[in-house]
Amino acid sequence: MVRVRFAPSPTGFLHIGNVRTALFNFLYAKKEGGKFILRIEDTDVERSKQEYHDALMEDLLWMGIRWDEGPEVGGAYGPYLASERFSIYQQYTNELIQQGKAYHCYVTEEEIGEMKQLARAEKRPPRFDNRGRDFTKAEIERRKAQGIRSTVRFKIENPNLEIHDLIRGKVSFNLDEMLGDFIILRQDGSPTFHLAVCVDDGLMQVTHVIRGEDHLSNTPKHILLLEAMGFKPPQYGHLSLIHGEGGEPLSKRLESVSVREFRRRGILPHALANYIALLGWSPGTNQEIFQWEELQKAFDLAQVNKHASTYDSKKLDWVNGQHLRLLSDEDFAKHALAYLKEQKVLRFDETLVHKILPVFKDNIERFDQLPERLEILRDDFAYENKSLIQTAEAKEAFQAALSLLPHLRGNGEALFDEFVNQLKPKVKVKGKSLFMPLRMALTGKKHGPELKRIFPVLGLDLVKKRLERALNA
Ligand code: GLU
Repeated sequence: MVRVRFAPSPTGFLHIGNVRTALFNFLYAKKEGGKFILRIEDTDVERSKQEYHDALMEDLLWMGIRWDEGPEVGGAYGPYLASERFSIYQQYTNELIQQGKAYHCYVTEEEIGEMKQLARAEKRPPRFDNRGRDFTKAEIERRKAQGIRSTVRFKIENPNLEIHDLIRGKVSFNLDEMLGDFIILRQDGSPTFHLAVCVDDGLMQVTHVIRGEDHLSNTPKHILLLEAMGFKPPQYGHLSLIHGEGGEPLSKRLESVSVREFRRRGILPHALANYIALLGWSPGTNQEIFQWEELQKAFDLAQVNKHASTYDSKKLDWVNGQHLRLLSDEDFAKHALAYLKEQKVLRFDETLVHKILPVFKDNIERFDQLPERLEILRDDFAYENKSLIQTAEAKEAFQAALSLLPHLRGNGEALFDEFVNQLKPKVKVKGKSLFMPLRMALTGKKHGPELKRIFPVLGLDLVKKRLERALNA
């Protein structure tokens, strides 16, 4: 059975990079009928915050990414918070030490600093030279007496320097980077990321690790460590970086690509998932728009490529626009209203807003464009072009319109047809010369959704108010 995990560190908000990792793991699990685990990697106690922990779960759920095991839902392999597993890490460390696979290392920070400096001066890679392995008992006692505390290092022996990556194929590593024994337990007894991730992947029986390219160089270490602890290493797949719009690494502008920010801009969760899926995955056809269920069926890890991708906010907006059009009018209004409330920008009567919202479905790309569009509900909106409603012909048309309003009986779009049919014989102007002033009087704008749709939504009372206001403008 496929078992995958998303293992974020709660040190910041979810952004497009780590949410892609979450999504690909989730989609892979769905596709394979496997399990998707959420594991919070809060080994860095100082930088980890409850606020980020809560936010990342909320953001995942908002996206529709649900975990089969993890915080809140539980599971047979818990706890799912690294901070609650410290005694387990300790136990594995002790076993490694007993088996001679790891050792207490009394080399100081200063010595490591000097080692690095020398390596730099001699133009060698700054790796640890394993000197702590060979300290005599007397040397260790001398250091202990000076108050030096040990770290625990894992011994690298016969490193296997080649892996088969699910996305990148065969990957070889540089011997010089690999040879240094690495720390698994810090001086204060806390585990490093390497130890926690390996113990957890091992015990949680993770079969596939899909994660960012930034972890590629850790993978040989992880395979060695897992094997030393008696676990069968999972298969690894590393996703390529996502670049920013100017080609810069995305890490420079994480705020603007956080899930929070997309949400604030009124991107639909499933449109975001659709867009993110395309950052690395190509379906092999021209299809770009995938509904959520469809995406879960279509996604295939074998079609994820190793090319770097570029975040393109215009493309995301376009994908979002396509998803908006796919919604029924009712669903559009429901989602849009929820957005306006969540962002605290609902400024008009809710029933009226709900009624008018579908009118905008075809001509917005994001919900954050709605507050401006909804300004047409203001009684005192500004006219984009006042001269259009100040001509004698326009005023005559408004008068005529006002006089026939009480006689209208129709409903919906038929109401507007009835209005126009009765109005036409009463006025000299026709076509554009009639409709432009009418649009200006009713909406304050030169362009926008069809009058036919707005008219019945405004209703006769508001239409009357607007015509009277235009007459006096
Ligand atoms: N906590 C790590 C990260 O956020 C997870 C690494 C992994 O998936 O193995 O990058």
